[in-house]
Amino acid sequence: MNVIGIDIGGTKIKFGLFDEEHQLSRHTEIPTPKKNIIGTMIETIATLTLGKEIRGIGVASAGIVDFSKGMITRATNLPDLEHAPLSNRLKDRFHVPVYVDNDANCAALTEGIVGAAKEVNHYICATIGTGIGGGVVQHKQIIHGLNGYSGEVGHMTLYPDGMRCDCGKKGCWERYASGRALEDAIHSQPSLSAKGYTPKDLFVHYPHDEQCKQIIDTFIHHLSIGIINLQYTLDPEMIVLGGGVVNATGPWWDSLIKEVNTASPIKVNLQRAQWKNDASMIGAALLVKNARE
Ligand code: ADP
Ligand code: ZN
Repeated sequence: MNVIGIDIGGTKIKFGLFDEEHQLSRHTEIPTPKKNIIGTMIETIATLTLGKEIRGIGVASAGIVDFSKGMITRATNLPDLEHAPLSNRLKDRFHVPVYVDNDANCAALTEGIVGAAKEVNHYICATIGTGIGGGVVQHKQIIHGLNGYSGEVGHMTLYPDGMRCDCGKKGCWERYASGRALEDAIHSQPSLSAKGYTPKDLFVHYPHDEQCKQIIDTFIHHLSIGIINLQYTLDPEMIVLGGGVVNATGPWWDSLIKEVNTASPIKVNLQRAQWKNDASMIGAALLVKNARE
């Protein structure tokens, strides 16, 4: 029987219908409405599943998710969904089990079941996008913690008196090792911002251009400190890096591996994520298949 996977982001919501072999058989995408998000989701699911029986719905969302309540408790870009009874409304309408989890957790599950971490049981995924998200997985199950903050690795403190973060703390990892951090570095260099550089351009010109080299070397340094902190916290079999920034090609990845394994006395098995855009939607559907009976 079929399973629905949904990925709710600040700008769009993606819906996928997955068959028994976990193949995507139908999909659709809508802009995230400002109001009545759940009502709009219900209409979209009803259309997507016309003529098909489903056995469960998995939802991945940006923000902090209370997995046990099936509810988003904090999402700056999705105020309409904060504390809304998301899983209850979907259950009432479709009469199937509904699971709601954080989008980075879902992406982590995808890597563990059909991606880079397929062969291991204990791993951490860090998603290096605009900010840094993450997921901690043990025995192929996502660790949620008390309030759903488990895996929010972007908010580990790197510098106690460092730059202010949106979370209210100072010096968080994501202020130094994310896409936004690279954008800030570009804006602080008039010659690079005048050329309209994006983070991707920094990697394209690494290591030949001196300014780009300096920014990327600093980024690699900060990224590696956080990676080593994660290794020492949970000693996982593997750390998987995903997210937009990790799409960058070129020699920076080898430089990162070298820096991590030179600075860390214990070996870090660092791998690139295999899934890109649809990782969270696929992982949302996997929440249903992966649910403990
Ligand atoms: P988000 O975190 O916003 O959901 P992404 O995971 O796509 O989205 O990450 C966006 C960030 O990744 C942006 O800062 C963007 O500049 C950066 N990025 C996207 N593609 C590349 C690339 N090929 N090389 C380096 N950085 C990239
Ligand atoms: Zn923070």
